[in-house]
Amino acid sequence: MTVPTLTLNDNTTIPQLGFGVFQVPPPETAETVTKAFEVGYRHIDTAQMYQNEEGVGAAIAASGIARDELFITSKLNNGFHRPEDARFAFEQTLTRLGLDQVDLFLIHWPLPTQYDGDFTSTWRTLAEFVQDGRARSIGVSNFQPAHLTRIIEDTGVIPAVNQIEVHPYFTNEAARTASHEHGIKVEAWSPIAQGRVLDNEVIGKIASSHGRTPSQVTLRWHIERGDIVFPKSMHVERMKENFEIFDFSLTPDEVAAISALDQGESGRTGPNPDEFDWIPS
Ligand code: NDP
Repeated sequence: MTVPTLTLNDNTTIPQLGFGVFQVPPPETAETVTKAFEVGYRHIDTAQMYQNEEGVGAAIAASGIARDELFITSKLNNGFHRPEDARFAFEQTLTRLGLDQVDLFLIHWPLPTQYDGDFTSTWRTLAEFVQDGRARSIGVSNFQPAHLTRIIEDTGVIPAVNQIEVHPYFTNEAARTASHEHGIKVEAWSPIAQGRVLDNEVIGKIASSHGRTPSQVTLRWHIERGDIVFPKSMHVERMKENFEIFDFSLTPDEVAAISALDQGESGRTGPNPDEFDWIPS
């Protein structure tokens, strides 16, 4: 199964399907990512907040896979938005991953009610990491339309991606559309809503008609809408299932029927980025 790549606005490329490691326990991360590599995943999405970058680094080191075949993303933790703290935290990420360069580094949350609302300085600091060659691309996560406008107007630097919650119950069209208007690719987090959409009747019927599973159909829906996804699973059979989504396609009507499952704000599984202010102690 060949995973398609998308070209980002800085002319780098990204595999459209990857493997996410949120809630993968740190002691099990190296083994889990190793299994994901064996299945064929080459794009890994981690974060400082997940406390499992070291495990990802161990799996990379043990894999023998050429560095240029891998795509590794991490994200700045919420307590490190001040420029000097962001520089320190970024260095720690590289050390924990055992890499000289990450493929993509993101501001994890905008935290508009923290740090006097100054996520622009944090964004400007991430731009340094591209300048000095330690990040191939930079982007943001959980940025609302107004947050995107602000950092672009203040710095002139356009994020390569915006990683936001998107799945059939929360299609997040406002943030998707704003991202697209700036030429920013959308990464859809919790692509199967942490499993919540898998018993949906509409998705189930479409899955049966294709001889596929609800997870495969939901991930295929994201792919056809042009978003980047990285489902998480601790089970190798599910890792394989989620990887096998490039040998069938949905009709435009099927894509529309799944998009119509949107429940607006009440469909979110995670917090609203305008309000989220959690800083780990
Ligand atoms: P997902 O939508 O990927 O769902 C993961 C859950 O679904 C797990 O409980 C998993 O169980 C289960 N699952 C996976 N595949 C299948 C399957 N084929 N059949 C049945 N159940 C399945 O949720 P995540 O929240 O993990 O999101 C994916 C990634 O997005 C994260 O790992 C992270 O990288 C990123 N993310 C980013 C956020 C951000 O703020 N930027 C926030 C949240 C996520 P099991 O493991 O037991 O198999």
